[in-house]
Amino acid sequence: MAQEEVFKKLISHSKEYGFVFQSSEIYDGLSAVYDYGQMGVELKNNLKKYWWDSMVLLHENIVGIDSAIFMHPTIWKASGHVDAFNDPLIDNKDSKKRYRADVLIEDHLAKLDDKIDKEVQKAAKRFGETFDEKMYRETNPRVVGYQSNRDEIHARFAKALNDNNLDELRQVIVDCEIACPISGTRNWTEVRQFNLMFSTEMGATSEGAMKVYLRPESAQGIFVNYLNVQKTGRMKIPFGIAQIGKAFRNEIVARQFIFRMREFEQMEMQFFVPPGEELEWFEHWKKLRMEWHQSLGFGAEKYRFHDHDKLAHYANAATDIEYEMPFGFKEVEGIHSRTDFDLSQHEKFSGKKLQYFDPELNKSYTPFVVETSIGVDRMFLSILAGSYCEEELENGEKRVLLKLPPALAPVKLAILPLVKKDGLAEKAREIMDDLKFNFACQYDEKDSIGKRYRRHDAIGTPFCATIDHQTLEDNMVTIRHRDTMEQERVAISDLQQIIVEKTEMKSLLKKLSK
Ligand code: ATP
Repeated sequence: MAQEEVFKKLISHSKEYGFVFQSSEIYDGLSAVYDYGQMGVELKNNLKKYWWDSMVLLHENIVGIDSAIFMHPTIWKASGHVDAFNDPLIDNKDSKKRYRADVLIEDHLAKLDDKIDKEVQKAAKRFGETFDEKMYRETNPRVVGYQSNRDEIHARFAKALNDNNLDELRQVIVDCEIACPISGTRNWTEVRQFNLMFSTEMGATSEGAMKVYLRPESAQGIFVNYLNVQKTGRMKIPFGIAQIGKAFRNEIVARQFIFRMREFEQMEMQFFVPPGEELEWFEHWKKLRMEWHQSLGFGAEKYRFHDHDKLAHYANAATDIEYEMPFGFKEVEGIHSRTDFDLSQHEKFSGKKLQYFDPELNKSYTPFVVETSIGVDRMFLSILAGSYCEEELENGEKRVLLKLPPALAPVKLAILPLVKKDGLAEKAREIMDDLKFNFACQYDEKDSIGKRYRRHDAIGTPFCATIDHQTLEDNMVTIRHRDTMEQERVAISDLQQIIVEKTEMKSLLKKLSK
C-alpha cells in the first residue's frame, strides 16, 4: 500500500473509532486544531503516564510540576521568543499558498536523498551478494553527482539559516527550481520572518490591559520555578524538573493531521547540571530517550537521530529523534543542551539570583540545562502509524487492527457474553464489576461475537474474554489474543492476574535503564 494511502487510512480510522476529531467540526473545523475522542483520550493518557513514570517514578532526582499557561510577558522577552521565535515564510503568488521556506528546502533535500537511495537499492539488487555499498556510493558517477549536488545545497541552506540570510534562502529555492505543489509554478514572494506566538489581553479595562502570550513551549514554566523547586524539594544538582502541558504556536503551514498543530501538548524535562558537564549529560539523555522510544517495540529501524543544522540561540548541542511516519522520517522529540542561557536571562530580566550553591565544590553557579522535549500529539501519531495493520484472514475476510503496546491500549480487556440470554449477560457483568477496579474493561453484548472481535481489534484491545454456557458450569472463560487470534480457556479467578501482568505499565518501564 502506498504510504500516502496508509496515512489517509490512519486519519479516517482515527475518526471512525473515536481517537481524533477535527475541532469544531460541525462549524467546518478550525485549521490545525484537533480534539481527542473517547479512545484517543485514553491512549493519550496512557502515553503521558508512560513518559511521566519513566521520568518521575524511575528517577529519584526528577520531580514534576504543572505551571500555568499564562506567564508574565517579560518571560518571553527574556527567553528570546519575542524577538526570535520566527519561521521564514514564503508565498506562491499563483496559488496564494503559504509555506515555510526552510521546510520547502528540507523536503527537496529529502527527495534527493531518496533518489540516491533508490540508485543504491537498484544496484544492490543487480550485484547481489558481492555488492559493496560504500564503494558504490563513492565511485558511481551518477550517485556521486547527486550526492555532491545535495551536499552543496545543504551547505548553502545551513549557512543561510545560521546567518539569518532570507534573500539567500529564497535564492536556494529558486536555484533548486522548487515549485509550489498546488500551482506547479515557481512564482515566489520574498522570504519574511513570522513570529509564531499567539497573544491575548489580560485585564478588565482596555487601558489597563496587558498583552500576554499563550506559551509556545512549556519549558519556561520550569525555568522560572527552578529555584522554588530546588529549595522546597531540597534538590541537589544534578536534578530534573518534568512537566506535561499545552503549548501554542501560530504555525505558518499546519498540515499532516496532528503532526503540526496550533494547539498541542508537550512533555518536557529540564535537567540541571554543573557547567562543563552538559555535553556528557546530553549524550546520557540521548541514549535514555532513544531507549524509551524503542521499548515500545515498533522496531529500532523506525527511529533515528537527526542533528540540527542550525542551533537555536540558546543551545550548544541539539538533536532530534525522528520516527518514520507514513510521510517520511519526522521529528517527534528534541534533545537540547540549552547551556545556562535561560536561567541567566531570567536572572538578568527579573533581577533575582537563580544560582545554586554546590556544597561539594563549595561555590555558587548558574546551572546548565539539558532538556528533552517531546510532543504528545506527534508521539500519538507515531504510535498509531506503528500499530496500524490490515490482515487477510484464512476465510478471505479482512481485519484492521491496532497492534498497540498493551500498556498503552485504551481498553485492556473486552468482556463479551456469547449471547445476551441464559444468564450469560449477568455473569459477564459480574466479572466486569469485579475487574473494573484494576484496569480498563469494556462490556460489549451487541452484534455477533466475530463483529465484536473486529471492533476491539480496531481499537487495539489486547484481550477479549468470552463468557459462554460452559462458563456457568466451570467458571472459566475463553481469552482471545488480539495479535495472534489464539484462544485459551482460563479460570475467572486467574483473569485479573493474567491481564494485569500483560498490560500494566510496569511491563514497559521495566525495559528501561535508570
Ligand atoms: P518543528 O521543527 O517540527 O517545527 P520544533 O523543532 O520547533 O519542531 P521544538 O520546539 O523542539 O519543535 O518542540 C519540541 C517538540 O514539540 C517537537 O519535537 C514536537 O514533537 C512538538 N511540537 C512542536 N511543534 C509542534 C506542533 N506545531 N504540533 C505538534 N507538536 C509540535
